[in-house]
This record gives sequence, structure tokens and C-alpha cells, in this order.
Amino acid sequence: MRVCIHRGAAEIGGNVVEVEHERARVVLDLGLPLAAALDGESLPRTIGGLLKPDNSLLGVVITHGHPDHYGLIGQVDPEIPVYVGAATARILAEAAFFTPMGARIQPTGLLADRTPFELGPFKITPFLVDHSAFDAYALLVEAGGRRLFYSGDLRGHGRKHGLFERLITNPPPPPT
Ligand SMILES: [Zn+2]
Repeated sequence: MRVCIHRGAAEIGGNVVEVEHERARVVLDLGLPLAAALDGESLPRTIGGLLKPDNSLLGVVITHGHPDHYGLIGQVDPEIPVYVGAATARILAEAAFFTPMGARIQPTGLLADRTPFELGPFKITPFLVDHSAFDAYALLVEAGGRRLFYSGDLRGHGRKHGLFERLITNPPPPPT
């Protein structure tokens, strides 16, 4: 399993992470950079299959409903599977009436706390986390005997701080 952080490592927000294993790929978040104008940013050209589906890109997983994590999702081909929390999809759909930053996502699958799902060779387990966005997840991605834990955005001082403490005291179990 290989990981490429296209954006978000040297800046806050605008997260885009691509994970590849044996020619299968999944993208974690498609964020709009915080400094970008709403219509001034396009998809990273180095990620194939976002504008024209191919067999290798299996889907995009959105961790939560902040634009610096989902803001470019409206530009991808609608055939590409998108996975997101149920409440996040509803919130973004309702927000679309009020702001261009809303999004009408037709989820292929819904994220649920500590409920793994498979996407080709990838096993993905969402972990509900404490964040200012409702319905936010960290993601454990496993393939080929390797594991990536992508925290997304999280905090330990919010209304759901117990989720942070649960993550610390009950982290993802070791591989079996
Ligand atoms: Zn956030």
C-alpha cells in the first residue's frame, strides 16, 4: 500500500490523500484549500480517474462536511463512488439552497462509526471523532498487510471530547 498526500501536509486544510494498492486506488477527502477562491481551484491533475472514471479509482471517501475536506467533490464525475457520513450528506444537501458551498452528494455508501467496509483490496474503518463539524470521522485504511490511520480533523476539547478519549484508550485494534 502506498500513500500520496497531494495536499494538506504543508498547509492547514485542502486535504487530498491518495492511497494505492496493486493498481487500485482510493482518495481520502477532496478539500478546497482554505486560501482558494470558491471557483478558482480545480482537482489535482495528478490524480487520474476523477474527471473520467477508470477502473483503478474505486472511490472517494469524505471525512466530514468542511469545505477544506469536501470542497472539490462537485467537480468529480458523478459515476465515481463517494462515501460519506449520512448526516454529512444531508447537511450539505440542505446547505446547497443557501450557499454555493453546499453539495448534493449521492452517496454510494455511508460511513458508520467503527463499521468497516471493503472497497476493492481496501478495508476502511471509520472512527467517529470530536470535531466542530457534525458527523466527522477518522479513517483506518488497510490493504496488503499495511495500515494507514488518517485522522481527518479532530479535537479533544469539544462537546464530544469523550470520542477523543475513547480513541486514545481504545485505538484501532492490531491486525489479526
Ligand atoms: Zn474540519
